[in-house]
Amino acid sequence: MPEVQSASQAAVEHAPVNPWVALAYLVSGVFFILALRGLSSPATSRTGNRFGMIGMLIAVVTTLVTHVPTSDLSNYQVVSVFGLGEILIAIAIGAIIGITIARRIAMTAMPELVAAFHSLVGLAAVLVGWAAYLNPGAFGIAVPPPEFGFGSLPVIEPVSRIEMGLGIAIGAITFSGSVIAFLKLSGRMKGSPILLPGRHFINLGTLVAIIVLTALFAMAAPGDTMPLIVALTVLAFAIGFLLIIPIGGADMPVVVSMLNSYSGWAAAAMGFTLGNTAMIITGALVGSSGAILSYIMCRAMNRSFISVIAGGFGADDSGAGGGEAKEQRPYKQGSAADAAFMLEQAEKVIIIPGYGMAVAQAQHALREMADLLEEKGVEVKYAIHPVAGRMPGHMNVLLAEASVPYENVFELEDINSEFAQADVAFIIGANDVVNPAAKTDKSSPIYGMPVFDVDKAKQVFFIKRSMGGVGYAGVDNDVFYMDQTMMLLSDAKKMVEEIVKALD
Ligand code: NDP
Repeated sequence: MPEVQSASQAAVEHAPVNPWVALAYLVSGVFFILALRGLSSPATSRTGNRFGMIGMLIAVVTTLVTHVPTSDLSNYQVVSVFGLGEILIAIAIGAIIGITIARRIAMTAMPELVAAFHSLVGLAAVLVGWAAYLNPGAFGIAVPPPEFGFGSLPVIEPVSRIEMGLGIAIGAITFSGSVIAFLKLSGRMKGSPILLPGRHFINLGTLVAIIVLTALFAMAAPGDTMPLIVALTVLAFAIGFLLIIPIGGADMPVVVSMLNSYSGWAAAAMGFTLGNTAMIITGALVGSSGAILSYIMCRAMNRSFISVIAGGFGADDSGAGGGEAKEQRPYKQGSAADAAFMLEQAEKVIIIPGYGMAVAQAQHALREMADLLEEKGVEVKYAIHPVAGRMPGHMNVLLAEASVPYENVFELEDINSEFAQADVAFIIGANDVVNPAAKTDKSSPIYGMPVFDVDKAKQVFFIKRSMGGVGYAGVDNDVFYMDQTMMLLSDAKKMVEEIVKALD
């Protein structure tokens, strides 16, 4: 029985956690919580980021220092061993790619970059799950075969199979969903919803099939698991795709934060497979904070959380036609000098920045304009919509970069009632977030989303490049044609710089 003996000795549980390692992971978890706390306000976000970096450094160093070559853990499976050297080379390659991308990426391309990175987290979860399935001895989740009588195949405990199945399923959904989000956000795929007939039944059926397959996979005999895990992986990739293609119009912000949440849960599931508490803690923090953010975004947009995650439930084909031909209607156009003259006469100006300000990088010129107006005794406030721009907090980041005082920046619900007292609503590169169709047109893809009541202001200045351009949701905007609206058709930065010159 010498072979059986040696196989039994190789039956490994996850090694008992060294108390110092547990302590180090706990400290890193505390730093991650402090990071989330810091990131909740623009004023403390830099400190929050630093806490996050320290926490991650502690977690990575602890994992590397306590790294055990995997060949020691099994003697009945062929295990390919990566030592510390190979791991450090992989980290260096990843760091070089990450630093290069971070230095080159434009602020406006951040959302698609975030989606692309989420897809990598999802793919990593799938690969870790598959690696654990193919080589359970290396992950410490194998039970020696002889005791169970399945010949030479290693047996994976049912609980580990459930963790593995969940990790692969969540990871695959995150991967394919994020790839579609990336394609939509980067404009490589049409942003409008793609509505398959009977999509809710297809989605529900696929979801049920994934759950059933996970259960079967956990219970099956070792020799029967391969077709089940393959089917599980394929269906999970498919449902990620199916859930995101019907989401369009203005609902993409929720998708971005939802995928952020999924990537956290995928990492937590990976943590279970790898027996790594730091990953479980971090994944759960990312997963739950992403879920809370998605919920907040849904509330801000007056959308039901369930309807968005169920894959565009409630969207219909009438709202799917972004960028349809627009009727020619009369509008008033003005110049920078006209705008400067009227701004000087105003007592109260509310600035509404949007995606176009980010594209033009007009935030510094805008701050200069606001400073000049304040010097002339004009009250200036900034109104930030929760989905303005292309990522949560996009406008706050840009205004903070231009050192706009936080006390002048207001959320939608805090400032919307003030438009009635404003002399000028100064819209710079925003469109969907000021579109009254959200209140009046039931067929509009943005219907139901709260928007700024700019039509209540005495004057509306609207900076955009041309009358042809539409916002993300692809719909025309009645504000362009209102009596009190003056269109300032130009690149946002150029227009504001000209206004600054005229004010000077
Ligand atoms: P919109 O996308 O509605 O409108 C952008 C406006 O900026 C357009 O009118 C465009 O017109 C103008 N513009 C573009 N470039 C310039 C430039 N260089 N100078 C001047 N104007 C410019 O932006 P909003 O911020 O109002 O709305 C955000 C939209 O994006 C919402 O629908 C939201 O749901 C969606 N979204 C938000 C995400 C988030 O997390 N915040 C994520 C994904 C989507 P023109 O081309 O004529 O210049």
